[in-house]
Amino acid sequence: MSDSRNNLTILQRGEPVLAQVADAVTDIDSEKVKQLIADLKQTVAEANGVGIAAPQVGESLRLFLMCSAPSERYPDAPLLPISVIINPEIHQTSAQQELGWEGCLSVKGKRALIPRYTNIKVSYLDDTGTKHNKTLTGFPARIFQHELDHLDGITFIERLDNESDAIDEQQWRERYMNESA
Ligand SMILES: [Zn+2]
Repeated sequence: MSDSRNNLTILQRGEPVLAQVADAVTDIDSEKVKQLIADLKQTVAEANGVGIAAPQVGESLRLFLMCSAPSERYPDAPLLPISVIINPEIHQTSAQQELGWEGCLSVKGKRALIPRYTNIKVSYLDDTGTKHNKTLTGFPARIFQHELDHLDGITFIERLDNESDAIDEQQWRERYMNESA
């Protein structure tokens, strides 16, 4: 039943599915995909995430949600409508990258400064199968790149030169609050 929503377990880095390249979604209208989308919405809201990818709940499919909203985890996140992103592609990127703080529901308690393209031209299907072509900038572009990495078996830790460049959430909170003050 697609009108029931379940809170799914979010897998942590080290689980093999998080290191796999996920498969394209071929059956957007299937009950399985509809239920997965409903469950991901429930799960990411519960976890105060700004995005979640299907592999994070053990489904190796090219599907993620973007759901930027300010929260305790991301105080400065813009409030945007939830987007269901299926079979995403990046067609063009800006030359420029910028550093920004990221966390990940699959790397609990860690934050790190990660370089991402400032602007990206993307395409994807939504949950009705409609194709979208968009240019994303700033934080939404960052979320898109972070979540697309999950579909390619990459967590933000793999984007660091050293795993030790990730800092504890508590340290981040102190630094971040000082920087934004
Ligand atoms: Zn993540």
